[in-house]
Amino acid sequence: MFKFLEEEPFSPIKHSYEVEAILHREKSKFQDIAVIENRFFGKMLLLDGIVQITERDEFFYHEMLTHVLMHAHPNPKRVIVIGGGDGGIVREVLKHKTVEKVYFVEIDESVITVSRRFFPDVAQAIDDPRVEIKVMDGAEFVKNSTGIDLVIVDSTDVIGFARTLFTKEFFDSVKNSMTENGMFVTHTESLHLHKDIVIEMQEKLMKTFPVVDLYTAAIATYPGNWWAFAVGSLKLTPRECRRPFTIETKFYDDEIHTQCFLTKKFYDKLLKRQLKW
Ligand code: SAM
Repeated sequence: MFKFLEEEPFSPIKHSYEVEAILHREKSKFQDIAVIENRFFGKMLLLDGIVQITERDEFFYHEMLTHVLMHAHPNPKRVIVIGGGDGGIVREVLKHKTVEKVYFVEIDESVITVSRRFFPDVAQAIDDPRVEIKVMDGAEFVKNSTGIDLVIVDSTDVIGFARTLFTKEFFDSVKNSMTENGMFVTHTESLHLHKDIVIEMQEKLMKTFPVVDLYTAAIATYPGNWWAFAVGSLKLTPRECRRPFTIETKFYDDEIHTQCFLTKKFYDKLLKRQLKW
């Protein structure tokens, strides 16, 4: 048994985690799934050797990927969550009373099973009657969807079978599935380490959506830490918090909402590729 686990990240930096115990290890149809115990982070879920969530800090990522658009949209009722097999995004979406239906589209059923067993707090809302689980590629599901207010992508990195979720064809299907105020969000890696990917994704979204924007949050276990979230919207800017903040969260609130976007000046310089780092 290894004492330290060296992550195999999609980046030039390798994180190394102390392993108190390996709680689970399997090869699913799609990926290597591991759950380890770490002294600081608690239980950690790894897919193909890359950290997905940790018990200690999952809420930063799940809240920020969910609540910014859930508050920017005036009345989100029908939501698609793609990936997110641990259930964290579904849990956050269902905190909103407006929500009538959540399509939870995860390609790998084994991730859901493992999360139910080892991360019951994260997976707690998966069985809510408003949730319909679809075990399939999210890009295929969206092609035949209509009447959707929000699409949230919580996938693995832009490599492997998650690649379908970062294409122009996928963004076009997302747009076609939406109601008039429809909005879309996906993570696009780290501004520190993957600046070019972040910019390219903004440019790609601009070919589909009239409004495109970028907000960030600090995530301890994702390489580069300064994590970028890309938004595509049919009409409304995501910068405005249009609904009262009444739900219970640990990190996200209406003040964070207005602070998490890049300043317009910095965003402009970034997209014009005027900044070297
Ligand atoms: N928060 C995590 C992160 O960014 O590291 C992501 C967590 S979640 C477990 C990622 C999930 O996306 C995985 O369970 C994976 O199976 C799923 N996934 C990847 N590509 C997918 C696709 N094309 N359609 C549906 N689910 C997909």
